[in-house]
Amino acid sequence: MSQNNYKSALDHPVFNILSQAAKTLDVECYVIGGFVRDHLLNRGEAKDIDVVAIGSGIDLARKTAQLLHEKPKVSVFKTYGTAMLRTQGLEIEFVGARKESYNRDSRNPVVEDGTLEDDQNRRDFTINALAISLNEGSYGELLDPFHGIEDLENKIIRTPLDPDITYSDDPLRMLRAIRFATQLNFTIEKESLDAIARNKDRIEIISKERIVDEINKILMADVPSKGFALLHKTGLLPYIFPELVALQGIEEIEGQLHKDNFWHTLEVVDNIAQTTNDLWLRWAALLHDIGKAPTKKFDKKIGWTFHAHEFVGSKMVYKLFKRLKMPLNDKMKFVQKMVLMSSRPIVLAGEVTDSAVRRLIFDAGDYVEDLMTLCEADITTKNPKKFKKYRNNFQKVREKIVEVEERDHVRNFQPPVSGEEIMETFGLKPSREIGVIKDAIKEAILDGDIPNEYEAARELMLKKGKELGLTVV
Ligand code: ATP
Ligand code: MG
Repeated sequence: MSQNNYKSALDHPVFNILSQAAKTLDVECYVIGGFVRDHLLNRGEAKDIDVVAIGSGIDLARKTAQLLHEKPKVSVFKTYGTAMLRTQGLEIEFVGARKESYNRDSRNPVVEDGTLEDDQNRRDFTINALAISLNEGSYGELLDPFHGIEDLENKIIRTPLDPDITYSDDPLRMLRAIRFATQLNFTIEKESLDAIARNKDRIEIISKERIVDEINKILMADVPSKGFALLHKTGLLPYIFPELVALQGIEEIEGQLHKDNFWHTLEVVDNIAQTTNDLWLRWAALLHDIGKAPTKKFDKKIGWTFHAHEFVGSKMVYKLFKRLKMPLNDKMKFVQKMVLMSSRPIVLAGEVTDSAVRRLIFDAGDYVEDLMTLCEADITTKNPKKFKKYRNNFQKVREKIVEVEERDHVRNFQPPVSGEEIMETFGLKPSREIGVIKDAIKEAILDGDIPNEYEAARELMLKKGKELGLTVV
């Protein structure tokens, strides 16, 4: 790559159109930020392009839309002075170059028009302040006032200005720093890391939704533990996940130790990140042990116990989602279910009976494979013999699940005899007896006393009805 020419980043025909639009309006414009960074890092074709105009970003967006063949719609955000259009699978954001100043109690700055340098100054990191000219005469030229290229090469997260000011002005940047370090496997420069630690309580002015956006991106990284370790190191973790902080530490009583469940949890998250891209399964890994802190007890005979931590943990999931203003929907229920059932396959692994497997499938439903994935990720023993043994046990459970499900079909269990049929048979109105009979049939099927079939279920219904003193009408 030549010293100062980055035309290769501007392969896409849309950049020529942008350039023409700018020329027509007689304004300068530059592509800036994430697109430039990701291109230089070879992170694949970025779909988001940020364009800064030295003048009105909104006018530039409108002119660009006019010049584009398909005349896309321009969305204008007047309050922010920005505009956006979509073309050819790309999302292009336009902003006028600006200078910002901040109040202490808000991350929304007072904004005035500025130069390109002013605009680069307000960017969060040197690697996000790189700009490439779209102007005639300098087309393809890189503008890198803060040595962002060097930082890209050395894999360093650094702020253009004094980090204490950068982070205090907009504390979301603290999380962005940690997120980029995790996503890109970069190191946060020491001054920056110290500044984050100093400014950690500023996180309180950031909305929960923004925080969760960043946490989700950390969770979706190849090695999410890096981000959580940084949250821990900088002291941000207690503001976001006090439940995880509570898992940290090893206690010893009468020579008996328990493992550090915080670091164990991070290992589980890294493990599961290697086998699934399902964000919610990764959340389940993150939260699977949170019930261990409030349930921890020491018993003289059996040592450390965490009785019912799965149940307590699943209740905590709800509170945590609510506090973080996350949707309390089926995703939350999924995470709860995974936490609640997280020890079930482990209990099974010793001795795999058909009826225990049937119950597991019945309770986990469509999520039984996800549950197995979580349990496999939960194996963090450093003893290779034990590791192999546990893996093999779970493999056996997985095989048994397939075998039992093929035969008994209890995955989305539908009672082979319906409530209506029970009511009709015995001339019953809705009543307790119906539940008793349905339950008896379900239990008999799960225990393997009868097959999951109509005839056998009907027979049991008649027998149970008799026991309850009912008569067939
Ligand atoms: P990604 O799209 O992967 O999240 P990005 O760097 O493109 O990464 P965006 O949120 O899309 O992040 O922002 C685009 C650009 O806007 C950034 O590269 C950066 O220059 C600037 N920017 C975004 N958020 C901030 C912020 N909080 N403070 C300063 N500059 C920011
Ligand atoms: Mg972006």
